[in-house]
Amino acid sequence: MTQVAAPAVDTHCPYCALQCGMRMTGVRVEPREFPTNRGGLCQKGWTSGTLLTSPNRLTTPLVRVDGELRPAPWDVALDLVAAKLTAIQKAHGKDAVAIFGGGGLTNEKSYALGKFARVALGTSQIDYNGRFCMSSAAAAGIRAFGLDRGMPFPVSDLTSADAVLLIGANPAETMPPFVQHLTNSGRSGGLIVVDPRRTPTAEQATLHLQPRPGTDLALALGILHAVVADGHARTDYINARTTGFDAAWRIAAAWWPERVERVTGVAAADQRKVAAILAAADKAYILTARGTEQHARGTDMVGAWINLALALGLPGKPGSGYGCLTGQGNGQGGREHGQKADQLPGYRKIDDPAARAHVAGVWGVDPDSLPGPGRSAYELLDALGTESGPRALMVFGSNVIVSAPRSGRVAERLSDLDFLVVADFVLSETAAQADVVLPVTQWAEEDGTMTNLEGRVLLRTKALDAPDGVRSDLEVLHGLAVRLGQPDGRFPVDPETVFTELREASKGGVADYAGVTYDRLRAGEALHWPVPDVDHPGTPRVFLDRFAHPDGRARFAAVDHTGPAESLDDDFPLLATTGRVLQHYQSGAQTRLVEELNNAVPEVYVEVHPDTADRAGLTDGGMARVVSRRGEMTARVRHVASMRTDTVFLPFHFPGEQRANLLTNPALDPTSRMPEFKVCAVRLEAS
Ligand code: SF4
Repeated sequence: MTQVAAPAVDTHCPYCALQCGMRMTGVRVEPREFPTNRGGLCQKGWTSGTLLTSPNRLTTPLVRVDGELRPAPWDVALDLVAAKLTAIQKAHGKDAVAIFGGGGLTNEKSYALGKFARVALGTSQIDYNGRFCMSSAAAAGIRAFGLDRGMPFPVSDLTSADAVLLIGANPAETMPPFVQHLTNSGRSGGLIVVDPRRTPTAEQATLHLQPRPGTDLALALGILHAVVADGHARTDYINARTTGFDAAWRIAAAWWPERVERVTGVAAADQRKVAAILAAADKAYILTARGTEQHARGTDMVGAWINLALALGLPGKPGSGYGCLTGQGNGQGGREHGQKADQLPGYRKIDDPAARAHVAGVWGVDPDSLPGPGRSAYELLDALGTESGPRALMVFGSNVIVSAPRSGRVAERLSDLDFLVVADFVLSETAAQADVVLPVTQWAEEDGTMTNLEGRVLLRTKALDAPDGVRSDLEVLHGLAVRLGQPDGRFPVDPETVFTELREASKGGVADYAGVTYDRLRAGEALHWPVPDVDHPGTPRVFLDRFAHPDGRARFAAVDHTGPAESLDDDFPLLATTGRVLQHYQSGAQTRLVEELNNAVPEVYVEVHPDTADRAGLTDGGMARVVSRRGEMTARVRHVASMRTDTVFLPFHFPGEQRANLLTNPALDPTSRMPEFKVCAVRLEAS
């Protein structure tokens, strides 16, 4: 019999926010030309197809009976979930049921999840793991520019830059195809990397600044000081396009580079050199990422780097700018359409009466029936199962037991719940604790839109059918909504139908998708939001004419250095910082199942300077116990001579006793509610 070949389908990678273009033929993946990846893929993208046929794939709902997860028919599982949620809300109130979403979910799912929480459940208790990723950059962007679009210009604009300052970003590992956009700045002697570790990205830099973890804000103040003191500030731009410079400068004036050197360890001469390189460049960019954002003062840290960009006149200038390198696949779209605790679709605020009226109109409900803001991600997890907290939790697209800070506490909170439901395609560590697990489709098995790191809306096209027994998240939400008493048509299962409704709900909002259609995306149009109507060409570059504050000006932030939330002492004398490696993605729930990736990095390790290791009695390749004030974990020791002697590094992708997040500090940024993942006090012991 002649075999019919699977059609080739153009789509995008399931993982990070670069959303590299790929072509799928069945489960076979090939790279394709797309502006963000220009024909490149990283190892994660190349191997992404193997997960579709993974033997670990869930293909039937699981229900816990006598302590064990056992297969159950869909109707039984959904009936049980609906009945339990109803009973818990009846006994304890609407907010007794919570939802936790993810930055990898499509726009349609993020939107449907927010609507499901507010309309089908009537709960205010919804937030998502993007709170752990981009929230500080988002808050700082809104404060400075009046609008948060991670990169307010296309990635390809970086290609012609003479200088790029990367702070807390390691794209050579996290999104390798991105690095080709830095070639020109590297050749021009203008690629500068700020990172406490000498990462593969730092290796490629003209200048690598290696500050003590938690001191980035002081470093930004020192460079700003040098910009002003050495006559590099763009006074015309500051006067014409910004406000608040004087208050910001009053603080930076007290942070001369030699003082900053004592706090950060970065030589004063290097701070001045950065100021000079950026000022001399015709086209220059400042880009931040998690390293400088995931702090208890992350919003102010990013604000300090934006101040520097404003003093140099970069934002809103063609060929220059400030941007945030968003991490998760739909980190941008996932923070725009309603799965955040304080938000309605279109990046609207849930406490804004006009926003409530508009969105309630689209949903066909009374605006007064919509709940108000709920708890932020860590506060939500921390409250689970407590006297005043939710009694039930539904998790979509997240593995909080591995990825949340102080994860020992999070696991304890989950175990105190009356009812835990997890929708996932594999039995993640969080799913393994659930009362009901619902097996859902993967990216290549469904249509859906994603919004990449430059605010471009993309269509991820279905390439193959899902295995029997698997349903999409939209089908799950529909099935539950109907059982919870919602009209049959209120929660559509077709992604394009959901997107059409999302467009209407976002219309007139900050993130306006009204003019984006599946047909335009299928035709290959490059649509960066806002796209207010179907004739609008999209907005690849925002801020060229004005910033989004009512007066059209960007705002300097008056921010000062205070240091990390916890200090070192004799018991905890070292700074631990966490991050990602090339082969793994986020909690590793997916990439640990890909043999090639897992074989390359099968276990957690701790990078430590050989002298520091010696003092703790640790040998290269041996095991160490890493202890913080919140917990301890074990890791294999890697001697790395380029590490600072006061710092250790741990990747956070691993489960059980290998969880780096057993150590991390959930001290929260007062504005963004971002936990301080990037610095905590630890000690090393021989294991
Ligand atoms: S993980 Fe990111 S960089 Fe790697 S192929 Fe996928 S989208 Fe591209």
